[in-house]
Amino acid sequence: MQDAIILGGGISGLTAGYLLQKQGLDLSVLEKNSEPGGPISTARQEGYLVERGPNSLLLPDPWVERWLAELALSDQIQESPASASKRFIVKNGRPVAVPASPLQALTTPLFSFRGKLGVLLEPFRKRISEEQGDVETVASFVRRRLGPDFLDYAIDPMVSGVYAGDPQQLILEYAFPLMRGFERDGGSIIRGALRYKKRRKRDGTAYKKRSISFRDGLGILPQTLSRKLGNRLWLDSNVTKVDRVDRGWQVTWERAGETFQGVANNLIVCLPAYAIKQIVWADAVAEQLQDTPDLKYPAVHSLALGFRREQIEHPLDGFGMLVPSKEPHNILGALFSSSLSPGRAPNGHCLLTVMIGGIRRPELANASEDELIALAMPDLERLIGANGSPCFSLLHSWPRAIPQYTSEFGPWRDTLRGLEKEFPGLYFGGNSIDGIAMGASILSGKRLAERIRLLNQS
Ligand SMILES: Cc1cc2nc3c(=O)[nH]c(=O)nc-3n(C[C@H](O)[C@H](O)[C@H](O)COP(=O)(O)OP(=O)(O)OC[C@H]3O[C@@H](n4cnc5c(N)ncnc54)[C@H](O)[C@@H]3O)c2cc1C
Repeated sequence: MQDAIILGGGISGLTAGYLLQKQGLDLSVLEKNSEPGGPISTARQEGYLVERGPNSLLLPDPWVERWLAELALSDQIQESPASASKRFIVKNGRPVAVPASPLQALTTPLFSFRGKLGVLLEPFRKRISEEQGDVETVASFVRRRLGPDFLDYAIDPMVSGVYAGDPQQLILEYAFPLMRGFERDGGSIIRGALRYKKRRKRDGTAYKKRSISFRDGLGILPQTLSRKLGNRLWLDSNVTKVDRVDRGWQVTWERAGETFQGVANNLIVCLPAYAIKQIVWADAVAEQLQDTPDLKYPAVHSLALGFRREQIEHPLDGFGMLVPSKEPHNILGALFSSSLSPGRAPNGHCLLTVMIGGIRRPELANASEDELIALAMPDLERLIGANGSPCFSLLHSWPRAIPQYTSEFGPWRDTLRGLEKEFPGLYFGGNSIDGIAMGASILSGKRLAERIRLLNQS
């Protein structure tokens, strides 16, 4: 009987595993793939350093910074240069810089005069009832408080960049709870945000979030955790069945054609929602999971394209560009990866990471690399003056990329939290329940480790 078995070696499961083994707990982490980290994976090819999944980690709080130091990764940290802080949104076929100051906000061509007035009037708009707010979509909230222009040319592309999702479907309370809180606490986004800032300053919890990567790419983080876990991490291990046994859980998994079983007091589940549902669970758990709606996971293609620098007319002086759904382009956006972090492309070359698909273009889920290049190139020619063919390309397709926090998310989360209450020793974490950013999954793993440590102490 082990202290814990962790299902899933994505960043949440690895974080929980690392922190618990440090406390001296006997545990195993079971991961289906031959590499740990889920989508966090870096490739080095032909002098390019390519992120297959996430490109940047927004440090959510000082604990994560200290934790990276503990993992001896501080020296590896690459902060995006100030020149890369500019973000572009496409309007009328060209990338327009997102305003970075009130003066720029007044003069930007991104929003019409009415649109700008709409934002200025935000603090004077009435709030809606709690019940209406509980089920309101992101699109409805933004239209109501900030106007349609802001939805089309700020929030819609931002939602596409973060969730590869649709603001008409995401529920504000689930997808952007902080924003909902601003209206609830302050009566308006602007007043609520100011109060929140003041409160954090007063409690000493104010923290300036920084967007980082590592010299060797984000993949170094799961690789480091995997080294620390050693033989506690079982790769190529597909969990198929979970049974309840006296004072614990019995887990069955397949590895290289062989069946293995393990028993533990605590079962920590850090799997995607669809993977949780595919497992054969003990009866009572199975029944409740069966009755819960599925979360949507749209497919996303991450297409890395390398060019000689002179093939691109745009200065690439920013983080990247996002395409609103109103604009007639194939791509969701492109990160200017070689501007974000040094050393991503050979000398004299640049690297773009183009995102295609998402909830907007489900028909592209099975597109090949050649088809995707053929769709992306006309957009890149028009938007940033790309000439000729790319001299390097690497595609990674994520058939089920990011869970969508739509109306199904509430019942899903409630079911998992209900199961935790009903079955002591059962815990859920990761991006199917605790937020979709990498930083949120790290904190989810930390919280899981804290809950189990506290339990062991009591
Ligand atoms: C293309 C893309 C770009 C992204 N960009 C960013 C970004 O720039 N910044 C950011 O903050 N976030 C980004 N994200 C989101 C972020 O990477 C994820 O939300 C986060 O890494 C999720 O970690 P997790 O541990 O919660 O889940 P996962 O990483 O999904 O971990 C779950 C693990 O469970 C394993 N598993 C599944 N089934 C089984 C089974 N039956 N048995 C055993 N193991 C199983 C999976 O293989 C996986 O490793 C991006 C995601 C994608 C896909």
